Order: sequence, then C-alpha cells, then structure tokens
Amino acid sequence: LATVLTIDGPSGAGKGTVSRIVARRMGWHYLDSGALYRAVGVAASWANLDISDAAALVRCTFDTQVEFVERAEGDLRVMVNGVDATDELRLETTGAVASAIAAIPEVRAALKERQRAFRRAPGLVADGRDMGTVIFADAPYKVFLTASAEERAQRRHNQLSQKGVCVNFDDLLREIMARDARDAQRTVAPLKPADDAVLIDTSGMGIDDVVARVLDLLPA
Ligand code: C5P
Repeated sequence: LATVLTIDGPSGAGKGTVSRIVARRMGWHYLDSGALYRAVGVAASWANLDISDAAALVRCTFDTQVEFVERAEGDLRVMVNGVDATDELRLETTGAVASAIAAIPEVRAALKERQRAFRRAPGLVADGRDMGTVIFADAPYKVFLTASAEERAQRRHNQLSQKGVCVNFDDLLREIMARDARDAQRTVAPLKPADDAVLIDTSGMGIDDVVARVLDLLPA
C-alpha cells in the first residue's frame, strides 16, 4: 500500500497550501477532502435542495461527480458534474454548507471509499479534518495544524482578497469560528488530532517554516 501523510486541522490553518507544496516536493498525490464536501454543497445548492433534507443530501452525494484537473502547474481546478466550480467552492458560504452536510453520517460514509481511492504510489498527502483519525487512520505520517482563530481568519481574508472577493473581516472571523465549533462538536468524525499526530501551531509562522517542519517528518 502507498504511504500517506495526513494533514488535519481547522479552516485557515494553512493545510491546503502546505499540503500542495509538500506533495509537489515529494512527488506524491494530493487529496483535498474538503473539496469533496464543498462539491456536494455546491451541487445541492445548484439543485435547490433543502439543507435539512438529509435523505436528499445523501442521494446528492452519490450523484455528484468530482474531478480534480491540473490545468497548469499549481493551477488545480475542481470540476463538479463537469462544470468548473473552483471559485464557488472557495466561498465561505460554500464552506458553511459543506460543514452542515459533513455532519450527516451517511454523507461521510458515502465519501469514504472515494477518498481512499486517492492512495496511490508513491504516496499521498491527504488534507482534511478526519484524515488521520478515520480515513487513513493507519497512515505512518500525521500532522495536525492549528493557528489562532484571528490569524486563520486573516489568512482566509487575504486569500479571498487576492481573488478579488470582498468580505468583511469580522463576519469572516465569526463564520470561521462557527464552522470550527460545528466541526469539532459533531458526533461523527469530529475535528480533533489523531493520538499519533504531530501538532504544529502555525501562528506567526511563515509557510516555508511549516513546510520545512512537515518535510522533516518524512523519509528523505
Ligand atoms: O477544508 P475545507 O474548509 O475545504 O472543508 C470544508 C468543510 O468540509 C469543513 O468545515 C468540514 O465541515 C468538512 N470536512 C470534513 N471532513 C474533511 C474535510 C472537510 O468534515 N475531511
């Protein structure tokens, strides 16, 4: 079985950026598991589904096709049912819908094997909330990234601004804290570090330092 590095943590801790860089350096595959939950959220809103209709959301999970396409080096696009939904996927409103959907046990179960299928030689960097605790519980390398809520909101704010999306910082901070609380308190696969995960608090750390710390854990 191919080796796996899991990188879990709350939103905005730097998982996505760090995971992509580490995957490229190692020549490993990359799984953005949050994008799967976000994709189901986007597909559900395209279909005008009621967010409290769990049965409809579970059906939608099975019906939603998600494809990751690298258009140019580093430009990873996410296709949802054949449509490029990359920009819509990144919105905090989509994150909130994804988090609500992700609390439904049958939705998580429906996505389990799809996530495990990303494990291919020579290795996989899996980014999410339950990569080290559930999906790849047997992974030899596990990291849990955190940072203060303010710093995480600031990073998201910068990311969105760079993309030309204008959002109010205080609203974003409130939304991120609400989403983290929901992710940590849900009954299935709550957000928490695996017992054998290495904790890295990235507050005040630059991306390069975080990447170096993670690479240090991996075989040369
Ligand atoms: O990581 P990202 O912010 O894209 O994830 C969006 C939401 O999807 C999270 O807030 C969480 O509720 C859910 N999620 C999850 N398990 C994962 C990845 C994401 O529950 N492995």
